[in-house]
Amino acid sequence: MSAFAIPLTVVGSINADITATTERLPGPGETVGGGTLKRSPGGKGANTAAAAARLGARTRMIGAVGTDPSGAEMVAALRTAGVTVDSIAEVDAETGTALITVDAHGENTIAVCEGANAHVSIDGHDFADDTVLTQLEIPMTVVTALARTVRGFFVVNAAPALPLPAEVVDRADLIIVNESEYAALPQLRSARSVAVTAGAKGSALFARGERIAHAPARSVTPVSTVGAGDAFCAALTIALRAGISAEAALSTANAVGAFAVTDPGARPSFPTLDHFLREADALHAGNGDEKDSK
Ligand code: ADP
Repeated sequence: MSAFAIPLTVVGSINADITATTERLPGPGETVGGGTLKRSPGGKGANTAAAAARLGARTRMIGAVGTDPSGAEMVAALRTAGVTVDSIAEVDAETGTALITVDAHGENTIAVCEGANAHVSIDGHDFADDTVLTQLEIPMTVVTALARTVRGFFVVNAAPALPLPAEVVDRADLIIVNESEYAALPQLRSARSVAVTAGAKGSALFARGERIAHAPARSVTPVSTVGAGDAFCAALTIALRAGISAEAALSTANAVGAFAVTDPGARPSFPTLDHFLREADALHAGNGDEKDSK
C-alpha cells in the first residue's frame, strides 16, 4: 500500500455550484441574457475530500446535504472520486448552493446559500487516530468541537477568513491559509505551524510567525484557479503525514496546485501523490524534468 494511503477525515461543506457565464455581469436590478449554464460539484470541504481521495488517501467525508436531487448528485460525485460517503447526513434543508456568474473576462460574483452545511454535526462520529482536515464553510461550533475531540493530526484551512477561537489555534497541528487570509488573521502569527499559499509565488511554512520553509510554484499558464487551494490543502496534509520533509511537502503540494489551475474545473482527476512527489524530486535534483507534468 502506498505511504500516502493515510486515513483522512474531511469535515466540511458540500455545495452544488451553478454557474452562469454571460458577456458581462448583471448590475443591481439588471437582467443580462445570452448566458450558458453549468452545474458542477463544489464546496471547499467536498473539493478537498475529492482531491485527497484521488491523491491516494483513504478519505471519509463528514458533511450534510439536503433531501433534494442536488444532494444525491453531490454525494454521487464524491463517491465517484473515491470518498467514503457513509458519514454524510441527509438533513431537512436545501443542499448548499453557490450561484456564480462569470463574465467574458473571468470576473465573477458568487452568492452562497449554505443550506444543509449549517447542519453539519460531528455528534456520534469516532475519529480514532485519523488525520482530520476542516475548513470554515461550516459552523465554527463544529470546528471548536473538533479541536476538543480529535486525537490525531488536526488541520484547519482557515478559509473563508474568519477569526478562529484561541483553542482552535492552539490545538491545530497545521493551519493553511492563502496570503490574504494570513494578512486578515493576525492571530496566526502565534500559531505553531501555518502554511501560506501565494498563488504563482508558491507556498511557505511559518512557525510562530517565522518562515521555516518555502517552495516556489510551478510555472504554468492558469486556466481556472477554483479549487487550487482546496487541492493544495489535501496534498500538503497527506505529504506531511506520510513523513515527507516540510520543503518537499510544500513543493509536492505546489505541483498539485499547479495541476489544479491548469484544469478548468474545481475537481480535477489528479494522479496519485507519488506522481507529484517524483516530479518534485526531479525538480529538486535540478534536472527540471517536468515532461510528465500537466
Ligand atoms: P487560493 O486559491 O486558496 O487563494 P492560491 O491561489 O494561493 O490559493 O493557490 C494555491 C496553490 O496553488 C499555490 O500555493 C500554488 O502552489 C498553486 N497555484 C495557484 N496559482 C498558481 C499559478 N498561477 N501558477 C502556479 N501555481 C499556482
